[in-house]
Amino acid sequence: MNVALLASRGGIGRTTLAFKLGQLKTKETEVFLYEFDVAYPKLISFFSNWSGQTIKRRVSKVLYDKCKFHQKCFDVCQFGAIKKENDKPIRIISICRGCGVCLDICPEHAIDWEEIVSGEVGEAQIDNLTLYAARLALGQAWEGFLIKKLKESYPIKENKINILKAPLGLGASSLRAVKDANVFILVTNPSITLEEEIKTFGEIVQGFGITGFVIIRDKDALKDIEALISNLGLYSTSIPWIPSLKDGFPQDVEVELEAFLNRILSNNGGF
Ligand code: SF4
Repeated sequence: MNVALLASRGGIGRTTLAFKLGQLKTKETEVFLYEFDVAYPKLISFFSNWSGQTIKRRVSKVLYDKCKFHQKCFDVCQFGAIKKENDKPIRIISICRGCGVCLDICPEHAIDWEEIVSGEVGEAQIDNLTLYAARLALGQAWEGFLIKKLKESYPIKENKINILKAPLGLGASSLRAVKDANVFILVTNPSITLEEEIKTFGEIVQGFGITGFVIIRDKDALKDIEALISNLGLYSTSIPWIPSLKDGFPQDVEVELEAFLNRILSNNGGF
């Protein structure tokens, strides 16, 4: 069973919720947390023994001693990773996808490869709870590459409880992160973009054809938007309290959370 926890903003309590849901189920079974929010992998800070391995990738490099400024590389890069500055090609490392098109087009062979650090992929464990996480290196922007590496290094466990924490989005990297999910949960709070956020979430859920849950951290906000949520075929609940772990979870909150998770797991994502 793969439960995807999505959010489009930080500070909502999704990381705490992901960790706590996982921890609650470890009384009975192994649980695997996947941190696909590679730009903000906050789950790593919940574990003291995370160790990551460096992941490198190749990018293009302009050889200025060979470059005759034919300017072909500017036009050919579909990612805009080579910019023109005073007629000189300036490569933007974080955007380059390493596709090699600019190497092929340059008549002077003035573009070569270089290796850079894209980020880290690693794991950590507390008892029955295992974390697999990736973290983008400073200045790097290609999340999809690291998500792919994380999935290759630690394939989603079959017939286990996997909690996938990922950003909400319709982009290829966000969808790649959650494509194995059986149920989606959006964690959100009131904001001026709430309606748009829920519509985007609805689109994703409908595209995948699975169950979608909206958790709103405000009872009144839920009342205002409940009709939209159910029109989109989504389920909703309000969890105004997500205490911080260091303050401790009150017993009644734990019981309610566990009941929520059991409801999701026992229905295999369908309601
Ligand atoms: S390798 Fe591909 S992505 Fe990178 S600069 Fe060249 S054309 Fe653009």
